[in-house]
Amino acid sequence: MPAADASRVRRVTSLDMRVHYHDVFPGESGPLMPSIKRILVTGGAGFLGSHLCERLVEAGHDVVCVDNFFTSQKTNVAHLLGCGNFELLRHDIIHPLWLEVDEIYNFACPAAPGHYQYNPIKTMKTSVMGAINMLGMAKRCRAKVLQASTSEVYGDPEVHPQPESYRGAVNPIGPRACYDEGKRAAETLFMDYHRANGVNIRIVRIFNTYGPRMHPYDGRVVSNFIRQALAGEPITIFGTGAQTRSFCYRDDLVEGIIRMMNGPDDFVGPVNIGNPGEFTIRQLAELTLELSGSKSQLVEKPLPVDDPERRRPDITLAKQKLGWEPQVALREGLTKTIEWFRSVKISDYRAPTPNY
Ligand code: NAD
Ligand code: UDP
Repeated sequence: MPAADASRVRRVTSLDMRVHYHDVFPGESGPLMPSIKRILVTGGAGFLGSHLCERLVEAGHDVVCVDNFFTSQKTNVAHLLGCGNFELLRHDIIHPLWLEVDEIYNFACPAAPGHYQYNPIKTMKTSVMGAINMLGMAKRCRAKVLQASTSEVYGDPEVHPQPESYRGAVNPIGPRACYDEGKRAAETLFMDYHRANGVNIRIVRIFNTYGPRMHPYDGRVVSNFIRQALAGEPITIFGTGAQTRSFCYRDDLVEGIIRMMNGPDDFVGPVNIGNPGEFTIRQLAELTLELSGSKSQLVEKPLPVDDPERRRPDITLAKQKLGWEPQVALREGLTKTIEWFRSVKISDYRAPTPNY
C-alpha cells in the first residue's frame, strides 16, 4: 500500500455499530444520521472509482465497492480494506444485486478504447443491463443514482466546444459504438426511470480524465505516452497528432462528481465535467517528454477508425449550477501522474483477462 494512500484515509471502525434508517424501516427513505450515507460505487476498484471510494470513506460514509476486476485490480483499493466503513464485493453488474443503499455512483464500465472494444457485446451489456440493475435498485431503495456518462455521447462532434444541448454525431455501427451507444442508451434509461418512476438521478458527462492509478496498459494516450517515455520507447502518435483532447486531473473530476450528487434534486443533468484546456496530441507528447526528461522519439502510427478530431467541454452549466471548475493545469497534473508511474512496478499490472 503506498504510504500516501494509507495516511489520507481516516479509519472509521465503529461505523458497523451505527443504526441506519433502512435497517429499522426497510424501503423508507432517509438515514437516521443524514450526514452518514450508505453508498454503492460500481466499478469502485477502477481508476476513477477507487478515488471516489477513497473520498467517500474519508468523509465517513459507509461505502460498498462493487467490481468484477475486468480492467482493475484489488491493489487500487487495498489501502481501504482495513476501514470499518469500506466493503469490497466481487460482482458483475450485468446481474441483479440486492443491497440497501442511499446513493449509487454507477462507474462500472471499461473506459479505454482498447478495453471496451476487447469484448464489445459485453461493453454494451454492462452499460445497458448494468444501468437497468442500478436503476432498479435505486427505485426499490429510493436511493439517488448517478451515471458516469461520457463525452463520447457527442461522437466526433461538429459543434465545438461541446455544450450539453448538442446531440452528437456518433457512428452507430463503428468500433466505438459499443461504448458510445451503450452510454447513450444508459442516459435514456436514466431519464426514463426519472420521468416514469420518479427515480432521483444525476447524469455526468465525463471528458478525458487522467492521474495516478490509471491502468498503465489501458492504451489511453496519457498512460501510453508516460509509460513509453519512462521506458525510453518511441512515443506512438496516432495520425499526425493534430487531433485535440481536453485533459482533466482526477481530483478535479471527483470533486465535480461529488458536487453533482449532492446538488439540488431539480438539476439532474446531463452536465459536462472536464477541463476546457484543449491540447493537440502532439503537444501532449512534447509536454510528456519535457516533464519526464525522456529522450524518446515521436513516431506516427495509423489513426484508429472514428477517432474524434476535436474535443473540448463547454462547462458553463457546471460553473453555474455546481460552482465547479477545474483547478489543476495539465502541466501540474501530468507531473504528479509521471511521479506515480515512476513509483509503481508496471509489470505488476496485467492486461484484461479473457475470463471475466
Ligand atoms: P476503469 O476501467 O479504470 O474503471 C472501470 C471499472 O469498472 C473497473 O474497475 C472494471 O473492472 C469495472 N467493471 C467493468 N465492467 C464491469 C461489470 N460488468 N461489472 C462490474 N464492474 C465492472 O475506467 P475509469 O477511467 O475509472 O472509468 C470509470 C467510469 O467513468 C466508466 O464508466 C467510464 O465510462 C467513465 N468515464 C471515464 C473517463 C475517463 O477519462 N477516465 C471519461 C469518460 C467516462
Ligand atoms: N492516441 C495516440 N497515441 C496513443 C494512444 C492514443 O496518439 O498511444 C490518440 C488517440 O488516437 C486519440 C487520443 O490520443 O486521438 C486520445 O485517445 P484515448 O484512447 O486516450 O481516448 P479517447 O479520447 O480517444 O477515447
